[in-house]
Formats: sequence, C-alpha cells, structure tokens
Amino acid sequence: MSDIETADIVIIGAGFSGLYALHKLRDHDVICFEAGAGVGGTWYWNRYPGARVDIPSMEYSYSFDDDLQQEWRWPEMFSAQPELERYVNHVADRFALRDRIRLSNGVERMRFDETANRWHVHTVKGDHVVCKYVVAATGALSAPNSPPWPGRERFQGEILHTAAWPTDGIDLTGKRVGLIGTGSTGIQLAPLLAEQAEHLTIFQRTPAFSMPSGNRPMDPEHEREWKENYPERRQKMLQSPGVSLLERSSVACSEYSEEERQQLLEEAWTSQSAFQLLLTFSDIMTNKEANDVVCEFVRGKIRSIVKDPATADLLCPKTYPIGAKRLCIDNGYFETFNRDNVALVDAKSAPIVEFTETGLRTTEADYDLDIVVTATGFDAITGAMTRIDIEGIDGRKLTDKWADGPTAWLGLVVAGFPNLLMIHGPLTPGAQAQMLMVGEWQVNLVADIIASLERDGYSRIDTTEEAEGWWAEEVDMLSRNTLHSLADSWYNAKNIEGKRGGFMIYVGGFPRFAQLNEEAIGNDFKGFVRS
Ligand code: NAP
Repeated sequence: MSDIETADIVIIGAGFSGLYALHKLRDHDVICFEAGAGVGGTWYWNRYPGARVDIPSMEYSYSFDDDLQQEWRWPEMFSAQPELERYVNHVADRFALRDRIRLSNGVERMRFDETANRWHVHTVKGDHVVCKYVVAATGALSAPNSPPWPGRERFQGEILHTAAWPTDGIDLTGKRVGLIGTGSTGIQLAPLLAEQAEHLTIFQRTPAFSMPSGNRPMDPEHEREWKENYPERRQKMLQSPGVSLLERSSVACSEYSEEERQQLLEEAWTSQSAFQLLLTFSDIMTNKEANDVVCEFVRGKIRSIVKDPATADLLCPKTYPIGAKRLCIDNGYFETFNRDNVALVDAKSAPIVEFTETGLRTTEADYDLDIVVTATGFDAITGAMTRIDIEGIDGRKLTDKWADGPTAWLGLVVAGFPNLLMIHGPLTPGAQAQMLMVGEWQVNLVADIIASLERDGYSRIDTTEEAEGWWAEEVDMLSRNTLHSLADSWYNAKNIEGKRGGFMIYVGGFPRFAQLNEEAIGNDFKGFVRS
C-alpha cells in the first residue's frame, strides 16, 4: 500500500499488551502493526518444544474482563505455549480486535513531524500512517540475539533460534543436535530435545540456577478458589512487589538455625510454586551471606540429581548470586544430564569460535551436528525499539540517544520523542513483576494520559532530560541496594558483547513504581512537558 493513511493512534505489537491496548483504546481510530503472522507476541514466536510460562496461569492471564477470567479454563497450572496462543487468539476474537491488526507487517521506520505534531510510521509492507500517538508495545524480550559467529552460511545443517521456531515444528528423530544457551529458554528446551534427538550436545557458557516448576494438571479446587476470589486476588497481587501471591518471608536468614534454614529451603524447593525459593528469607536479594546459603542449597540439589560428579560440578553456578539474573524454572533439566545421549560442553573455558561445514568449532574441539539450536536470548528491553529507525525532534535518532543506555521518564516517555508511549519500556519492572498484569496497568495509564491530553486540548507530550535523570537515579539507587548488579545478564545489557547501558530494570517493586507514576501524573504531570 503506498497511499498515506491517517489514524489517531498506532500500536506497535499485537502481543498481550498490544492487544489489550487495542481493546482499551478502541474508541479512537487505531491501527495495530504486528511483525508476526499471528497475534501473541512472545507466545507467538517462542514455540519451541517445552515453552511454558513460569508463573501460574490463574495469575498470568488478563484481569480486565471478569467474564473472560471466569469462563476460561486453564488445563495446567503453568500453561504451555500452545495453550497461551489459543488463549490470546480467543481474546482477539472475543473482543473483535482482528480487523484493526495488520499481521506480518512490522514497523521499520518512524519520524516525528514537529510542526504538525504527528508521527509518520512506515512498515515493512510499505504502509505509511500519519498519527498523533504511537503506543510501543514492542516487548522486552522480542529482539532475538544471535551472536555473530562466522561460518553460518557454510554449515550444511540447520540453525534455529528458539524465538523464531518453525510454526510446523521440526523432526529431530535421528539427528545430532547442538543447543547453545542455558538460560530460561535452553533449560526448558533441553529435556525435550534430549527425548527426541539421537544425541544432544549442550554448550554452556554460564551455568544457571533453576528450580522445579511443579507443573501439574489444573487442580479444580485451586481453580474454584481463584474464580470465587478473583477481584480481591488481583488487587492483592497489585499490592505486592512482584505482582504475585507468593509468600514472602519477613524473617532474615540469620534468624534461623542451620537446620531450620535447610527445612525451609526444602519446603520452597518442593512447593510446586516457582520462585518461592527466592522468598524463603527476607534478605536473599540484599545480603550476600543469606544469598550464599540459598546458592549452596541449589548446588547441593544439582550434585544430588546429576550422577556424574564432573558434569554436576560444571552445572553448579558459582560466580553470581541466585536471583541476580532471573531464576530459571525447569521441568527435569538437571535430570537430562543423566541420559546417555546428552553431553555438556564448557563453552566458557573453550568458547564457540565458528560454524564449520559439519557443525560447531570451539577453541578446543570440533562437534559434528545436524541441527544447531541457539537459545541465546534477546537484545532485551531496548532491542525491539532500537531495531526500528526512530527519529524524534531535530532529526535525533533513538539509537543515538540510547547509545550509552536507555533513558526514559518513568520508563514511559523519552525526551525529544514526543507522543511516543512505551509499555514495558526500559527502567520499568519488566520480568521483576508479572508482566501481563503490569502491561495491563501501564496500558490503562497510557489510556488515561491520552484521554487527559485530548480533554485539555494538548497536542504534544514530552519529557525533559532532567526528569530522565531523576528516574535513572531512582532505578540505579534501587539496584545498588540489591545484589542484582553482581551478575551479567539481560537486566544490565551485559548479555550481549558491546551493548552499553546500566541496570535497565526497576527493582523497587510494583507498588512503589505505580505510586511514583500516579504521583507524577496527579501532580500536574510532573516531569512531563505538555504543549
Ligand atoms: P538468556 O537468559 O539471556 O540466556 C541466554 C543463554 O545463551 C545464556 O546461557 C547465555 O550465556 C547464552 N549465550 C549467549 N551468547 C552466547 C555466546 N556468545 N556463547 C555461548 N553462550 C551464549 O535468554 P533466555 O533463556 O531466552 O531467557 C530470557 C528471558 O526470557 C528469561 O530471563 C525470562 O525472563 C524469559 N523466559 C521466560 C520463560 C518462562 O516463562 N518459562 C522461558 C524462557 C524465557 P551467558 O549466561 O554466559 O550469557
């Protein structure tokens, strides 16, 4: 399409937040562009075997419509990707959202016309829309990271990224498979690959802490309790730091005897309640000694599960605190190493160098493989935005503005890029709080902001570098008060070589985040510039 169209609002992304934004803003003239051929964002792209949410489904679901949450039946406690995709498609149909979504049509370029106060949005299919606001629901974990190993083109086998898994799957029968990456994704995928492939070689650079998910069929009693109490429970979730109903201890580790500690950790490990382990003591994320106790407990579990002592030792994380990167949640990951057809390669001491015609080469050896699966994560938080060519006031590019790391007032608006409102932007709670409900909350905030601008006759909302500085300080101060900065991860841009930036996640807990947002808006839009 080459004609120029107009709209009030362009939404980028038809993932969970983008879809809800479309529903919430439906009284405006809205167009939603989505790069995928289907809706669902994360849960559309990440369709690798074993992909499963690590938060209970009664919680990880939309809260905006009571009929929806009462009627939908989740078959398992932690839903697998196909079920989440079915759910999000149901939502798109139920709320008649599809006719405003343009699939397989990602946004590739945007320019702000400062005279007219309009964004010009250009897509891969050549659509050109002029609109007043852009709501970027681009996802925090949606720009796949593919390390630039040379030789990809000469490899005779197939290379897959977990975040672009073929929609019709892939037959691994009789194949020698290599898996690179042992984060949340690799850890979920490994047991399934091991079952299907003839042989699986897992290339591990940094071992990960993981606890069993305890997934199981939905307990009807659990479902009934939730459905009878949904409004109160949702409210209670929003009052907790991680937007979850996990039990948080208020007792420091040092208050317990060694025996009590081990008993509490054992209870958390077998709680069938992912992440409970990190809440066993009140000071796990602030006190290195308390954290060490939990680390050693998990290392003990790994050593007791994995039969070969050398493999077990290599799988034990020793260089960073537990929880400083997102804790992985698994379904039989460590047990996988007891299989005869699985081998672990230390890609730290012998890094991967290149693809060869027949497989992968590390600094120490060659590995013959038919398929290489890269579970190498994402150019997280900023990647989905910086991969779009975004030009704000005075022709300034977002990539230049964020060259040393992202800045944004409240994680929502970027100085010099007016009328661009981000959901799950940098410096927001991200994966430190349940993203589906935080996304809904932010969409509601954005809808309120747009309504108030329209009501009061403003045509532009921006922020200042001073306000961005306040927010950067708040985020930095909070992360410095915890152990988070002691790990290299996608939280602090250190998962990708050469990527710059500080700590990009707000770890002060959702209630404080929400309160600061509401205070700023209630305080005559403090930190914003309306004109
Ligand atoms: P990730 O946590 O960033 O893990 C990427 C893995 O690839 C790491 O093991 C990393 O090693 C490795 N890697 C990257 N570059 C490499 C290189 N050049 N050589 C060797 N290894 C390399 O990414 P992810 O596993 O996709 O998870 C990202 C986030 O998505 C998670 O933290 C979580 O928030 C979310 N997620 C959630 C679920 C769930 O709900 N169950 C599932 C999957 C993902 P290093 O550690 O050494 O960098």
